[in-house]
Amino acid sequence: MTSPFKPPSAAGRPAFPVRLKPDMGVPSATKQVVVNPRPAGVKGMNELKRPVQSVVPGGVGLDSHAVRARMVHKLVAQGVSDAQVLAAMGRVERHRFVDSALANQAYEDTSLPIGLGQTISKPNVVARMLELLRLGAPGKLGRVLEIGTGCGYQAAVLSHLATEVYSIERLRGLHDKARENLRTFRLPNVHLLFGDGMMGFARGAPYAAIIAAAGGESIPPAWIEQLATGGRLVAPMQTATGAQALVVIDKTAQGIRQTMLEPVHFVPLKSGTN
Ligand code: SAH
Repeated sequence: MTSPFKPPSAAGRPAFPVRLKPDMGVPSATKQVVVNPRPAGVKGMNELKRPVQSVVPGGVGLDSHAVRARMVHKLVAQGVSDAQVLAAMGRVERHRFVDSALANQAYEDTSLPIGLGQTISKPNVVARMLELLRLGAPGKLGRVLEIGTGCGYQAAVLSHLATEVYSIERLRGLHDKARENLRTFRLPNVHLLFGDGMMGFARGAPYAAIIAAAGGESIPPAWIEQLATGGRLVAPMQTATGAQALVVIDKTAQGIRQTMLEPVHFVPLKSGTN
């Protein structure tokens, strides 16, 4: 982790899969396309197919790999098929990001409070969004921007899927908590930033991918601007009926393609810091 708003050094910049053409403007018109149903097929890592011992009171401890393997096994059954996402979810100890009183629920398919009225999404939703973000890419993503660090869990998972992770949080209390939570993991490619994520983080742009854990009425223009051509954005967003759904935005040389997916329930995207 580095200190807040430390610009990435030009020399240290990772190779980027796509280049932003200097003359490319961001098209203002967005195109609505058909809903992409969640893949129904269940396939994934072979080693996940073997039965995993379940957690029983007084049995397998939360530090055990078996506890996370069981969660991953459930994700596979729910339709998550990206082996890299499953492997990353299997590596990060989720119980270390929640209050000790809630630790025994950390691997259940449930969202959990993380303080200051915010929540950590259920594993299924985290995996789904990361899978959409990766779009089945064979290797790691380049630089990724996350809006809404919260407790830092998703940033930790992302650290295994991207070369660099820039994660912004607008609540100082949670930014500090995430820093504390992530300290023991020693993830040098995670950069925690305190600020209003609605403005993105221009100094790290362009991003191969942008992911938001909070939903507003629309996608802030800064996010689209800071997304690389060929890059993808996944976020919750308000729909025409006032509900909330996942939206995927692909930035291509031809323009912006927006796809609305399934309904979700994320905390609101708010402006300013607190
Ligand atoms: N990915 C997080 C989920 C946190 S919940 C995790 O793994 O824990 C969403 C977070 O988005 C909240 O902490 C909320 O404070 C934050 N948020 C909302 N609006 C924001 C904004 N404009 N900029 C940065 N963070 C924001």
